[in-house]
Amino acid sequence: MSRAEIVVDLAAIRHNVTVLKQHVGVPLMAVVKADGYGHGMLPVARAAREAGAEWLGVATADEALALRAAGDEGPILCWLTVPGDDLGLLVDQQIDVTVYTAAELERLPKHARVQLKIDTGLSRGGATRAQWPALVARASAWDVTGIWSHFATSEDQSDPSNDEQQKLFDEALAIAADAGIVDVTRHLANSGAILLRPQARYDLVRAGLSMYGLSPAPGATPDLGLVPAMTVRADLALVKEIPAGASVSYGGTWTAPVRTTLGLVPVGYGEGVPRAAANRAEVLIGGKRRPIRGSVCMDQVVVDLGGDVPRAGDDVVLFGPGTGGEPTADDWAVASETISWEIITRMGGRLVRRYEGGN
Ligand SMILES: *Cc1c(COP(=O)(O)O)cnc(C)c1O
Repeated sequence: MSRAEIVVDLAAIRHNVTVLKQHVGVPLMAVVKADGYGHGMLPVARAAREAGAEWLGVATADEALALRAAGDEGPILCWLTVPGDDLGLLVDQQIDVTVYTAAELERLPKHARVQLKIDTGLSRGGATRAQWPALVARASAWDVTGIWSHFATSEDQSDPSNDEQQKLFDEALAIAADAGIVDVTRHLANSGAILLRPQARYDLVRAGLSMYGLSPAPGATPDLGLVPAMTVRADLALVKEIPAGASVSYGGTWTAPVRTTLGLVPVGYGEGVPRAAANRAEVLIGGKRRPIRGSVCMDQVVVDLGGDVPRAGDDVVLFGPGTGGEPTADDWAVASETISWEIITRMGGRLVRRYEGGN
């Protein structure tokens, strides 16, 4: 064990892929961008393939090429190329490239595997409704393998934008069919839609957060028994007593009302611990939740042990699946006023990753 580490449970990844595949009944794309949401792209990709993920999805060209370099031979989709990318490398490696504009199409040879993205309301990547007819007319000369789009608010199905986006997606498919683009893989659902919008499954779903065992809407999604794959833990660096009135950490944002014991945890924002968690998040030490006191530093945080005196070297769990009483990534997201995607993805820095559950 390292002094501070990310423990990744690959059995949880495999379990989640299996469960999600059973739930949707269509092929699944394991989204492994951003170093597998902080879990390590290659081990996660391997585990997802072992559990039957038909596709891998990544943002960048480098991510897609790294998967091929590691020996992955299955379908891979990449959706965020930039003008400087050597698209020829992707084409040579049989990687599906997402195209948003006619100009991008022209940079690709006719035998390239091309997926077209329609912007149905997220207003991020993708061709707008106005650009779509011209794009599909042009694209029929290429090997179009897929058409897809992305939801803005799928974790909240009471939002009418979901229906509007799917309606635009269906219209875009019809326009493409009129241009002769048929028999393509159609996909729209991310985790929120996988769990909450059965009518959005089409031919493939793209599972990110849910594959890592977390819910896009904690408490509001069906309980499929998904298992969070990431635990962040450290060795307790130091235990000491402070008197009443002592202020803790930079800026003195917390002052001990009574004499207490403090624990020094050797992880900070250099490891991805959000500064916004100061005085709000908790960790598990010796079977009890211990609140963070004072500001989060670059290398360390201080927690209140409330008079207890665990030993330096004891286990500190920042978050994990929650089954041993530790906080979850969802708890950290609430404490830090962010989303669990950001909590898990930013964990890194000097943390060492250790894999359990095979591989
Ligand atoms: C990141 C991403 C996903 C995965 O989203 P989750 O909500 O994490 O499941 C799916 N599709 C696209 C295009 C993405 O960028």
